[in-house]
Amino acid sequence: MGCAREYPGPSLGRLRLPVSRDTVLDWMRRFAASMHEHREELVRLDTAIGDGDHGTNMDRGMRKALEKLDAQEQADPGAVLKTVAMALVSSVGGAAGPLYGTLLLQMGTSLAGKGDVDFDAYAAAWRKGLEGVKARGKAEPGDKTMLDALLPAVEALEQASDLNAGLQAAVDAAERGMRDTVPLVARKGRASYLGERSRDHQDPGATSTYYLCQTAAEALAG
Ligand code: ADP
Ligand code: MG
Repeated sequence: MGCAREYPGPSLGRLRLPVSRDTVLDWMRRFAASMHEHREELVRLDTAIGDGDHGTNMDRGMRKALEKLDAQEQADPGAVLKTVAMALVSSVGGAAGPLYGTLLLQMGTSLAGKGDVDFDAYAAAWRKGLEGVKARGKAEPGDKTMLDALLPAVEALEQASDLNAGLQAAVDAAERGMRDTVPLVARKGRASYLGERSRDHQDPGATSTYYLCQTAAEALAG
């Protein structure tokens, strides 16, 4: 795209441990704000190799999700994520709604009925979400999709010794994965119709996934 944008990482000072209903709520609110803030950027990326709706899709879906979260008290971290997942599936057409819906639904199922969540359970929830996206979208690493940011982020989290280190490592890995989609030729989704012409563009879904990881880290930082 020839754009030298800065993607500032979160500043992780004090951590608000452990992962709780309220930190997950905060994460979803931050992600909704991020999708609104980066709406035009995601539209621009999707206009280059898709149909230009990724930013509006994600912004609309997360706005709907916030309405649902505000309407009803959520029992635990799992319930928060399931509510957002259902809102995304029902309000976002196209690939991203079902894929993000599956990611958050699987994470939510993994955390259902849990009060405060420790590092291992948090990492396991991300793994479950990742496996859901793989099963649903059938993409492989290197296909130029959101998986190219998600997979390295989850692996970095799993390999970390604690949550603090894991969050930062996951954000860094997601950012690298997002940038590494630029030279790839798309093999899944709408961008794959372009074949070679999809090269030299950053994948919109990998970019929104980077923001998902970034806001997760920010929500858990003090
Ligand atoms: P659509 O392509 O239907 O217009 P969006 O524009 O909202 O939906 O989302 C496009 C993004 O979805 C892509 O940038 C890519 O990251 C992701 N995507 C598309 N197909 C797949 C898939 N099979 N597996 C994983 N991610 C995918
Ligand atoms: Mg699109």
